[in-house]
Amino acid sequence: MATLSSELTLGCQCGKVTGAIKCTPQGSINHISCYCKDCQTFARHLNAEAITLDEHRGTAIIQTSPATVNISSGTEHLNCLKLSPKGITRWYAGCCNTPIANTMSNGKMPFSGVIRSFVKTDNVEQIAGPVEYKVFASLSPEANGHNKAPLGLIAKIVVNMLRWKLRGDHKNSPFFSGETGKPVGEPKILSLQERNAASRS
Ligand SMILES: [Zn+2]
Ligand SMILES: [Zn+2]
Repeated sequence: MATLSSELTLGCQCGKVTGAIKCTPQGSINHISCYCKDCQTFARHLNAEAITLDEHRGTAIIQTSPATVNISSGTEHLNCLKLSPKGITRWYAGCCNTPIANTMSNGKMPFSGVIRSFVKTDNVEQIAGPVEYKVFASLSPEANGHNKAPLGLIAKIVVNMLRWKLRGDHKNSPFFSGETGKPVGEPKILSLQERNAASRS
């Protein structure tokens, strides 16, 4: 059986942070769109709504193993924040505020959701497939998506993460130290004021 191998080129708006996602083997990528408030708040806080949100305020995300994500330049501009102390870690380019990816809070479980605003490749659908799931779309009924995250998607993510963990992918992430599992940048935790300022009611 032939194995297709292809890449998605990554880059921030100003071009300092660059990289690629290796899209192989096929089937380990989920292309989703998330309509939750937190993703919108993240984009708004960075003043990056125009490059991040679709017409229904959804954020398109390529979910993949962090070991397939390679940052080749500008790693010093990798910044991260959390919308609250407990939340997931959200990465962006400090040079120009381009949203980059969402990850877990620590590097023990390998998972990365690379945000489309960081993808330079034009024909993303050809390589990563079309958006397969529209999640947390209760606030955007026009998006015609799921109210939450459907079980099929959750099961897929869990199975993928376990497979990646067994393979040792968590030790090979651009976002966490392979040794300690600590994030490569200290996450800034937004204050309530900052979070409120960035969230639309
Ligand atoms: Zn930049
Ligand atoms: Zn979201």
